[in-house]
Amino acid sequence: MKKRQSPWIAYATAFLSVLILLNCMTWKSLAAPRIQKTKSPVIIMIDPGHGGENEGTKEGFILEKEMNMITAQVMKEELSNFEGIEVYMTRDGDYDLSLKDRAKAAESVHADFLISIHYNASESHALYGSEAWISLNQEYHNQGYQLGTMFLREYREMGLMLRGIKTRRHSKGNDYYGVIREAVNLGIPAIIVEHCHVDHKNDRAFCDSKEDFEEFGRADARAVAKYFGLKSSKLGIDYSAEAETLPEVIPGTLVPRATQDATAPELCHVALNSAKFDEDKVSLTVSAKDPESNLAYYSYSFDGGETFTETIPWPEGDILTGVFEGSFTIELDVPDGTIPEICFRAVNPYDLDCVSNVITFNQPFVKPIVEETPEPSYEDATEKVTAPAEKIAEQESHVTAILLTCVVVVATLFVFFLIAYLVHARKNSKSQKSK
Ligand SMILES: [Zn+2]
Repeated sequence: MKKRQSPWIAYATAFLSVLILLNCMTWKSLAAPRIQKTKSPVIIMIDPGHGGENEGTKEGFILEKEMNMITAQVMKEELSNFEGIEVYMTRDGDYDLSLKDRAKAAESVHADFLISIHYNASESHALYGSEAWISLNQEYHNQGYQLGTMFLREYREMGLMLRGIKTRRHSKGNDYYGVIREAVNLGIPAIIVEHCHVDHKNDRAFCDSKEDFEEFGRADARAVAKYFGLKSSKLGIDYSAEAETLPEVIPGTLVPRATQDATAPELCHVALNSAKFDEDKVSLTVSAKDPESNLAYYSYSFDGGETFTETIPWPEGDILTGVFEGSFTIELDVPDGTIPEICFRAVNPYDLDCVSNVITFNQPFVKPIVEETPEPSYEDATEKVTAPAEKIAEQESHVTAILLTCVVVVATLFVFFLIAYLVHARKNSKSQKSK
């Protein structure tokens, strides 16, 4: 005999399903909690990079040490509007501090983060965009990655190109950058923020006035306030929900795309789609692959790789999520009258590149010469447009005049002959009477 199932089992199953569903939803919204646990108040040590004789880059319109100070001061002021935070600075004047002293200053106040403020310039003057450097140390790496993401999101919002959140390894195996290494040695998480490249035209609009450095200070304060989920009743801001938008990280493991990539992209290939020789146009599909750190830029060459164009951000890429399209289609304008040898260069966020195969052609790209009819000048055009109308009017008035003259002449002659006839007829009748 079949045993009848108790309705309670069905109720319990349904109840459990709802619980599991709710749990999944909750888990999803908390998918990326802040790895770093802090007490209130949060303590921040801002480090304006360089100072004194250590001037930093001289490529901007003022020295880097001054840029860093302007940004750091505004960042401190802005952060002081929030509740639950204490903010300090490693230096408040124009003097140098050793990297160890900067780390010690952070340790002395038990800082939750040491944030070192910098502006960048490259030897080649070819690089542009924002980047953040974090620790390789597993204990501090993920905290740096989550905070770094908040900084770069602000800069992307401002319109800057992102070069990523990165690590650099010293030959001894620990962190290459001293301020990060010294801070981590003292148990303080640290990050270096390189706002933009002051020596590149693409970034110049973001760093060519004092106000620009202040703008970065406000962006930096927002990044920190969002990372810690701070509130400001003074400003009417509540960033507590922002802390839930942090990128997901796995505690104890390094984020692969933030781990130094010592090798170039492993593939770069270009394929010809079509060539319009009489329009100087060529359509190509470019593919590249760098599974370790993804792709940051590309550039291309018309002379087989001897010279390349400026670097252009890789299309459809998001360096913060690591989501990249492996290939894209592009239409190029070929220099007229040339037989180009086209190749591409794919560049990863660590500035290592891979050059593609070369596409060659057996005929030049030449636009046919079109006989140019000279554009009529304004005076000519006026004459062309208005002369016929004037002439018609002129001709019409001539015809009228001739017709009128004819009528007058005919009428005069008629009158003349009428008078002559009448005079003649009168003379005849008189003579006939006298006869
Ligand atoms: Zn610097």
